[in-house]
Amino acid sequence: MTEKKRILTGDTPTGRLHLGHWVGSVENRLALQEQYDCYFLIANKHAFTTRADRPADIRQSVLEIATDYLACGIDPQRSAIFIQSEVPAIDELTFYFSMLVPFNRVMRNPTLKDEIRDKGLGDNYPFGFPLYAVGQCADILAFRPQLVPVGEDQLPHLELSREVARRFDQMYCGVDPQTEDKDYVTAGGVFPVIQPKLGRVERLVGTGAPSAETGELLKMSKSLNNAIFLSDDAQTVTKKIRGMYTDPKRIRATDPGETDPRKNPLWAFHETFNPDTAWVDEHRQLYRNGKVGDVAVKNKLIEVINNLIDPIRTRRQHFEQRPDDVIDALRLGTRKANVIAEQTLQLAKTAMKQDYFPQRSVTLS
Ligand code: ATP
Ligand code: MG
Repeated sequence: MTEKKRILTGDTPTGRLHLGHWVGSVENRLALQEQYDCYFLIANKHAFTTRADRPADIRQSVLEIATDYLACGIDPQRSAIFIQSEVPAIDELTFYFSMLVPFNRVMRNPTLKDEIRDKGLGDNYPFGFPLYAVGQCADILAFRPQLVPVGEDQLPHLELSREVARRFDQMYCGVDPQTEDKDYVTAGGVFPVIQPKLGRVERLVGTGAPSAETGELLKMSKSLNNAIFLSDDAQTVTKKIRGMYTDPKRIRATDPGETDPRKNPLWAFHETFNPDTAWVDEHRQLYRNGKVGDVAVKNKLIEVINNLIDPIRTRRQHFEQRPDDVIDALRLGTRKANVIAEQTLQLAKTAMKQDYFPQRSVTLS
């Protein structure tokens, strides 16, 4: 029997899933769960980078995100939904990997820099904050996945995972540095040089105004108070869309950049979620010419988003009534995740000559 190829991806439990997760990653997960053996990690330890003083919130968010996954249609019998802190092999790999990456290299990661700026972390972020970037290499490589579906902001992290895999395989498995990325495992490496898979929309913007610092709209983020959640009720969706940022100067502008999805969330959302492309094309033109205003375009968007979220909401209500089913899904997924992660750790330790005790069953008598 040939093993199915594996996918690994995940989310930090710092809130609930939003529309950015949907187009950036969840749509791909649903499409791929048929063909691949899927592992979906809930990175609870990484939530401690910014919320060490709020463990109850992290716990609550783990359960919310697991409920969101199930509501979106992730099937726990096929796909493993698991809790990072319950897979100890990931921590062991993190320690070894941290020896393979220069500290300055970690700090050059633009996603870390953006997070420090956008989350207002200043100079007081904990030591564990940069460590999480190395930890994420272990999250991924512990599963030796063929594919990693993510949003654009994760590409620098994935690049670090690729570097770690190459370095480990060259240093401990004798893989020739000239080897092509796709051939590292066949050349004897433990870790594949993984491939990212971007979603239909690589970076969905949030509902808020642009950053005062950069003038760019921020990405939709759980922690930036600019998200429409997959679990928001119809009224909340309406309120958020009515209050959504639109640049008043652009209402009548003729500049084609006006509807650049990176500049105007209203059109970014229509272009991403409105299946009626003829409506979008026609109204974009009318909007540009000042023949239709924000209110009408927002009202249409409210309808579109509620149509998208409605079935997810209904399934979510089902799982909210059954918290034990959510825990059972996590228990099952975590057990499955530990099997692969432990195998990987053994392979890595053997390659590093740190396998002192041969694997055999131990009896105490
Ligand atoms: P936080 O604000 O805590 O960082 P987040 O909203 O960025 O939360 P993550 O858990 O960090 O969410 O990201 C989970 C996955 O969803 C990643 O693959 C990420 O690239 C993707 N993702 C998150 N936000 C967006 C977005 N706005 N557009 C596209 N993909 C996104
Ligand atoms: Mg994030």
